Amino acid sequence: MRRIERARQHLTGVDCWIIDNPVDLYYLTGLDLSLGRLLLSKEGAKLYVDGRYYEQCRNQKSDLDVVLLSRDAPFPRLEGRRIGFDATYTTVEEFEKLKLLGGELISLSAPLRQLRAIKEPEEIERLREVGELGSCGFDFVVSRLKEGVTEREIASELEIFWLREGGERLAFSPHIAFGEGSAHPHYHAGDRALKRGDVVLIDIGVVRGHYHSDMTRVVFFGEPERELVKIYSVVKEAQERALALCKPGVTTGDLDRVARSHIESAGYGELFPHSLGHGVGLEIHELPWIRKGGQERLEEGMVLTVEPGIYLPGLGGVRLEDTVVITTSGHENFTRRQIPFHPVL
Ligand code: ZN
Ligand code: ZN
Repeated sequence: MRRIERARQHLTGVDCWIIDNPVDLYYLTGLDLSLGRLLLSKEGAKLYVDGRYYEQCRNQKSDLDVVLLSRDAPFPRLEGRRIGFDATYTTVEEFEKLKLLGGELISLSAPLRQLRAIKEPEEIERLREVGELGSCGFDFVVSRLKEGVTEREIASELEIFWLREGGERLAFSPHIAFGEGSAHPHYHAGDRALKRGDVVLIDIGVVRGHYHSDMTRVVFFGEPERELVKIYSVVKEAQERALALCKPGVTTGDLDRVARSHIESAGYGELFPHSLGHGVGLEIHELPWIRKGGQERLEEGMVLTVEPGIYLPGLGGVRLEDTVVITTSGHENFTRRQIPFHPVL
């Protein structure tokens, strides 16, 4: 109920909020619903669910006003009221239905995102735990690397490993790329077989307790091309510099700039085509965005990734990604840090 109260304090410019996104519903109520609608207003909060969820919600949340929706008892009309809704989640079809409620519809862009960007101690603990499970996944991947194994084989074994270890599901399709495939920042594991001299890029994440992990490591399977070793050290230094700035008060733009300028000064600026990082929590990508020119300031409790990369077309890429939480005076890294320099297997 504490989060609901905080959300209600953010009701500005509207008389009520309609919240349909299951991620936000979970954040506010702790209930795992695939369908439901929370109505927040100055008077209070009401959760509307159908017969599938009614008893469960009432049992789990005795302090929440739960209302059963049915054909005879539909969602109430909100005549004459300014109704805020999440334009990033509502479909056009759903929007047409909202029009029938009778009020004035006010489109909001993911209204809970700002609240969700600052994690509470309990959320930080879950992110720390899932970060550890993610790091174990990296060790597992390294243990499976052998000549002839395919990216897809390793990706599927990793999923089984994590499920056995208590993970709920993959945070995203594992990005395991051998050799030249690693030069594509958004590659998916395919049928490429591992051979000597390959660079291996491993960007993986798992979900546990609703929270996501995200990390990227690069290892060399045998002696790689010299330029790959060079870009590895440039990316590593760029990441170290950005991590050193991860503390309250620093802007997201400054964070991006410190990594980007190091990569530019090494002559690879054009080959770092993405932003430096993103927030992580109930979703794999959420606020804050760490990108060029970002004005937002880091605050204690924000959880974000730092992931510079350089991609050499036809040869391979290097990206290193850690997930950290901003603390009172610095940060704590949820990703195990030991990245050996020149990690040749
Ligand atoms: Zn990642
Ligand atoms: Zn990421």
